[in-house]
Amino acid sequence: MSTSTRPERDKLYKLRHSLAHILAQAVLQIRPQAKMGFGPPIDAGFYYDFDFGTEPIMADELKDIEKRMQKIIKEKQEFEAFAKSFDEAVELLGASDQTYKVEYARELVDSGKAEDGKLGFYKNGPFVDMCEGPHLEHTGQIQKGSYSLDTIAGSYWRGSEKNPMLTRIYGLAFECADDLKDYKKRRELARQRDHRKLGRELNLYTIDEEVGVGLPLWLPKGTVIRDGLEQWAREEEFKAGYQRVSTPSITRSQLYYRSGHLPYFAADMFPPMKVDDGEEYYLRPMNCPHHHKVYASESRSYRDLPLRLAEYGDDFRYERHGSLSGLLRVRAMCMNDAHVYCENDQVEAEFTAIMKMYQMYYTHLRIGDLRVRLSLHDDTKDKFVGDEEEWIRSEAIVRDILKNNNIDFEEAPGEAAFYGPKIDIQLSNLLGREETVSTCQLDFAIAERFDLTYIGRDGEDKRPYIIHRAPLSTHERIVSFLIESYGAAFPTWLAPVQVQLIPVADHVYEYAEEIKALMTSKLIRSEIDTSSDSFNKKIRKAVTSKTPNMWILGGNELEGRSVTWRRYSVKEQETMALDTAIDTVVRMNANRVMDNFADVALPVE
Ligand code: ZN
Repeated sequence: MSTSTRPERDKLYKLRHSLAHILAQAVLQIRPQAKMGFGPPIDAGFYYDFDFGTEPIMADELKDIEKRMQKIIKEKQEFEAFAKSFDEAVELLGASDQTYKVEYARELVDSGKAEDGKLGFYKNGPFVDMCEGPHLEHTGQIQKGSYSLDTIAGSYWRGSEKNPMLTRIYGLAFECADDLKDYKKRRELARQRDHRKLGRELNLYTIDEEVGVGLPLWLPKGTVIRDGLEQWAREEEFKAGYQRVSTPSITRSQLYYRSGHLPYFAADMFPPMKVDDGEEYYLRPMNCPHHHKVYASESRSYRDLPLRLAEYGDDFRYERHGSLSGLLRVRAMCMNDAHVYCENDQVEAEFTAIMKMYQMYYTHLRIGDLRVRLSLHDDTKDKFVGDEEEWIRSEAIVRDILKNNNIDFEEAPGEAAFYGPKIDIQLSNLLGREETVSTCQLDFAIAERFDLTYIGRDGEDKRPYIIHRAPLSTHERIVSFLIESYGAAFPTWLAPVQVQLIPVADHVYEYAEEIKALMTSKLIRSEIDTSSDSFNKKIRKAVTSKTPNMWILGGNELEGRSVTWRRYSVKEQETMALDTAIDTVVRMNANRVMDNFADVALPVE
């Protein structure tokens, strides 16, 4: 369940918003000519944009500004709200030459967004800003040490390159000093674990401008991780009665008119390409329509259901350039997809089995801090297909399944897929930012659109229910989460290099080669460090590259046909017979042992 409740958010919102005003007041003390842009509260703090003209502000001035802010806070200035007509507002803002504010005031009035043509203002001490609030009662409510100025960056007025470049001063702000300290600590850890940084350092993936933004190229080491997850999913799906299919990444537009992707999902799709006689083809954003066509490829009866069709399918979505980010937000992705076609009275058992599969994956991967969100339709919006009654009925089914399985969840109206209610698995990163890692949907609408039927026990044609599920998300998304969750220290079964062989003398190289060949024959990925680096440096390199196991080979090991095993996650090392060591890695692979956690012991016989 979410820990964020409304009153808390409101309090922080007011605090951050108030600090933005205090920042502007302090800045105007040292740069009275500065023109103000916007100054809103944001995640973790606030910012304010300024046009400093020919007197730019320097980072070393932030300390002085902070001191001035503290003085304003000590003065316990009260925040007072008042309203002005446009003319009065222009006069007030124009007096201090606040041209950006005047421009925005005009826009608010012209667009009818200003209530009764009046514009909201707030005043604290000598400082006045056009603003809708809300604010704290007075500046003294801000605790010492609970905020700090952070960085300075350039930012175009209203985000457009055609406009002047302003200077944005960022601040961090929390309720108390401890919260701020804690946030800074987590931010540093998040920086170190950023999947874009680690992905580059560990050669997991690359993005090449010539290939295109948002189109990651998986390098050999990253592909090992991807393949490892995919192999796991295939095995679990096989055990759960899924059948694999393979369908193309491109399709005729008419399929998407039938599915409703056009127009409901059009904004997220790449524009069509015209082929043959001007016919339009699309890169697929989802695999569902193709799977529905597989279902429709033969006549089905109740005996065939549930029919579970699985595919790791390549999908393409048009994400805006500015929102692309590493592996997390991409334009090409490969999804752990499947569609389960079932009878009405099989929905509960199938959906429950799928929820159990989700739990199994996330428990095994030891990904904590998951939240389950039940995303519902919103009857005031027309982005949802199907009729109201069906929505309410299918939402109730999913809600009951979650309750019956004692799964905690929160409800989110308006977040459903356009074809049915959806369960979102939400994961928070180190900074508390929540992302949807994977989803599962109950679909009552599409069977009719695709005219999917099966012959029921009574000999009548019936519509199947469809469950869309993708527990392991897309390779791109899940790997970005795993990198950040593990700090790229993957368990042996997923690690690009599983065992780093470290010979400590020339005469053991041959022994190292022999071990490597033995391991290769048992599908274990190993590398020999043949460099002339010192022993300590070799160990350091293996640790830096997050290799889970180092086998140190010296004269004693050669003589005893043994290895000295050092693990990434634990301090102690252990010498054991070579055969035992290799068998242990084989067992770790077979059981997908999560040995990247220090409390997990090696499965030595
Ligand atoms: Zn689907």
